[in-house]
Amino acid sequence: MRARILQGTIAALVCALGIQAAAQAPAGQAPTAQAGAAQAGGRAGGAPQGPPQRTITQVRGDLYKVQSGAGVAAVTVFLVTPDGIILADPLNPEFSAWLKGELATRFPGRPVKFVLASHYHWDHARGGAMFADTARFIGHENMPKNLALPIRQARPPGDTDDIDGDNRLTREEAQTGTRAQFDRMNGNGDVFLDRDEINADIRRPDITFADRYTVTLGGKRAELIWSKNRHTSDLFDVYFPDERVLFASDYVWINRLCCNFSFDRRPITTWIASIKALEALDFDTVINSHWEPGTKADLVAFRQYLEDLATQVQAGIRAGKSVDDLKKTVNLDKYKSWVGYPDQAGAMIESAYTSLTKYQN
Ligand SMILES: [Zn+2]
Repeated sequence: MRARILQGTIAALVCALGIQAAAQAPAGQAPTAQAGAAQAGGRAGGAPQGPPQRTITQVRGDLYKVQSGAGVAAVTVFLVTPDGIILADPLNPEFSAWLKGELATRFPGRPVKFVLASHYHWDHARGGAMFADTARFIGHENMPKNLALPIRQARPPGDTDDIDGDNRLTREEAQTGTRAQFDRMNGNGDVFLDRDEINADIRRPDITFADRYTVTLGGKRAELIWSKNRHTSDLFDVYFPDERVLFASDYVWINRLCCNFSFDRRPITTWIASIKALEALDFDTVINSHWEPGTKADLVAFRQYLEDLATQVQAGIRAGKSVDDLKKTVNLDKYKSWVGYPDQAGAMIESAYTSLTKYQN
């Protein structure tokens, strides 16, 4: 553990040298400098300088949101109850070490009793060991399977792929955040990042579920809802019915063009169906695992944008248009005020095109 914390310190120093924007870009958007500039112009305030600016914010009642840094840096939530704390994603070892100290100071005598790992991706699931002395870990039943699969079948976040199929990544095969964190995760220091190195700090769930699971603690509830193959096969969203808050995992982006990487090589209709199912829940606030929170109306707008994008691109495909034609004719002006417009519009059209031609069935 000491070695890992030391690595984290080194990573923090790397961040201090101004590389954090890349280090924090595992997301479904913006691997390019151009896109980064577009995001920097958004309300997130752009690339952070210096060590991560971690913040804890009360959302409603005893539910809190935690930012692990500025911009695209991952977000998690926790619910305080008289019998302990329910924590969503532990994010990473350095973050969870910091959070454990904060929780002990702010909520003494209330240990973390449950850790909810939203999916297997290293940018959300690492660092759980910090809470292993008091907590049980809950994940979707596909999470342990994904952690055991070859890299090609359960890829790291972003567009990273094991192109030659040797079940390890070169620096060139690693993309976005995985490339930025290559040295940090490369435990044996060779030129490859293998699956076990990527997953080294991810704790396997003690409890798994298939469709829905309700966690109860100290008279409070969190409902875990499988996202049905949006983003990854094990992703779930967390609904806090009493607080009327939804913690939606990757990538339910608010007022921001989404999603890159051919919708994670999945049918865009899967994403639309998943968001639609969330709309049936009774909530006021949606917190996403990256970027800013929003309202239920914002979630509806996000789903409508996905439908609009899919409908226009599908019509173009039926009319025999090429992806380059579509980039000129698909009209996303409705989303002028969203972050990523217009710089990311072409990438989103291409992403939808690939999803609809390669992954739709
Ligand atoms: Zn993810």
